Parts: sequence; structure tokens; C-alpha cells
Amino acid sequence: MPFFPRPVHHPREAMPVSSALRALIAERDQPRCAYCLTTEENCGLRMHVDHIIPEVAGGLSTLDNVCLACFSCNVAKAARQTAVDPLTGETVSFFHPVRHRWHDHFAWDERKTRILGLTTHGRATVAALQMNNDTMVRARRRWVSAGWHPPDTKKDYGTQGTNDPMRK
Ligand SMILES: [Zn+2]
Repeated sequence: MPFFPRPVHHPREAMPVSSALRALIAERDQPRCAYCLTTEENCGLRMHVDHIIPEVAGGLSTLDNVCLACFSCNVAKAARQTAVDPLTGETVSFFHPVRHRWHDHFAWDERKTRILGLTTHGRATVAALQMNNDTMVRARRRWVSAGWHPPDTKKDYGTQGTNDPMRK
């Protein structure tokens, strides 16, 4: 009997993000993940460009639909747009790094190694992106002891200042 290999799923080719757009995103988001705030300096890896509304769902490569994301958050989010809030069981949209303010939806725990979800969007995002996975918590522990973490909390993460038209 002939062998027919199963069709291989090729992930959709990412729409190229121009270097000009990438530079704008990096300037806005700083070199860190817009979800878990991991910095490029701490993890030693370049941030990915995440489409907040995934391209497969029609999301565009425009400044209001892209953000920087670490490998861990980016891979865990994949092409999803919603996740379940473990507290209420509600299915809600992910935290939106451009429209939402990070500190409205998340906080650091006392040791600054775990991210607490403060809202349905926050809790669902923490759970779905596994933002407190063991590897990351261990890494944050080291960053805290070195004084590299958490990032400057006086800054407004996730949104780009009061003149941001996307801000709600
Ligand atoms: Zn992240």
C-alpha cells in the first residue's frame, strides 16, 4: 500500500513587518514584552512582533495592532484572541497592550516574581500565556536579586501616553 504522508500544516507566513514599523514599535514598547514585561536585556533574546489581533483573523501590521512579545508569550498566545478567566470561567479577550494599561490589569506579587491578574482580561492572559511558568519565575528571582527587575513601575506600560488615540 502506498504511503501517503499526512499533510503538514505550514504556519501561515507572517506578513513582513517593515524595519520602520519595527523601530516604531520598539520605541513605543521599549525593548520588552508588552505582556509580561520581560526585557531583551534580561532574557538576552530579541522580542518577537506580536499581532494583537492575529493575522489569520484579519489583524493588520499596523502600529495599533502590533506589540513586542517575548518568545514565551508569543508562542503561548499563538493565533488566539480569547482565553478563560480561571476565577470566573468567563471567556474574554486577551489584555490588549495598546488599548489597555498594564497596571490596570496586572500587578507584581510581593516578591516581584509572579504576575497577578487584577481583571478578567488580566487573569485570562496570565493563565493562557503561562506568564508565571516555573522557568520564568526562577529567572525573575535572579533578576530581582540583581536589581534588574521589575522594570521601572513609574512608567506607563502597555499604552503610549495620554495622547494615544487608542487609549480608552
Ligand atoms: Zn512575555
